[in-house]
Amino acid sequence: MNEQPLREAVIETALETNRRGLNQGTSGNVSVRCGEGLLITPSGMAYEDLAPDDLVYMDADGRWPAHQKPSSEWHFHRAILRERDDIHAVIHVHSVYASVVAIQRHDIPPLHYMIAAAGGDSIRCAPYATFGTEALSHNALAALDGRYACLLANHGMIATGPDLARALWLTEEVELLARQYVLSLSLGGPTLLDAEEMQRVLEAFRHYGPRSGAARTASGQRPDAP
Ligand code: 13P
Ligand code: ZN
Repeated sequence: MNEQPLREAVIETALETNRRGLNQGTSGNVSVRCGEGLLITPSGMAYEDLAPDDLVYMDADGRWPAHQKPSSEWHFHRAILRERDDIHAVIHVHSVYASVVAIQRHDIPPLHYMIAAAGGDSIRCAPYATFGTEALSHNALAALDGRYACLLANHGMIATGPDLARALWLTEEVELLARQYVLSLSLGGPTLLDAEEMQRVLEAFRHYGPRSGAARTASGQRPDAP
């Protein structure tokens, strides 16, 4: 398998999280399924400095080359890709509004129909655990049950998808939902969509999503709204 285009796509996706104001510095990490294993950003390196060879290939048993250091969050990247065969790409960021809601340890409720982009009628906040631990991985996996995104208490968010472009799209949508939530709380709190309406929206969302993922990653264009 030719890993090179995949390595370049991971770097481009990571850089795009910075360009879109979703991440900064050495925060955050990106992974993608690669054969039996995965490719993941290295620990503690700014995305601007990444070359394709800096990405770490982790095999199915969780082994990597001795001279490299995978992201400290490799536990949850690996667990998500292992446990969810509908997910092939994982993005973690410390975006401002998602982190603010996670600091409050709130789930994002159904305040806008776009919540369905994450797969359900809420985006759960995983209970707190120290960064880089198996415990955080365990909590994140549970919060992602039936979902493609979750918040991490006092930390940030995880967004996933069938490919990098879709995961990047969802990262931005989750951050927007978190922002809408914070702003609506400042106006007295959101009026929520009821369960019946969310069922209709979730059904409609089975056929909705960005149509040209690759084009979106490359050009930064937004997908059409339904
Ligand atoms: P890494 O640089 O090890 O990927 O860590 C960044 C991070 O966001 C940890 O939660
Ligand atoms: Zn983090």
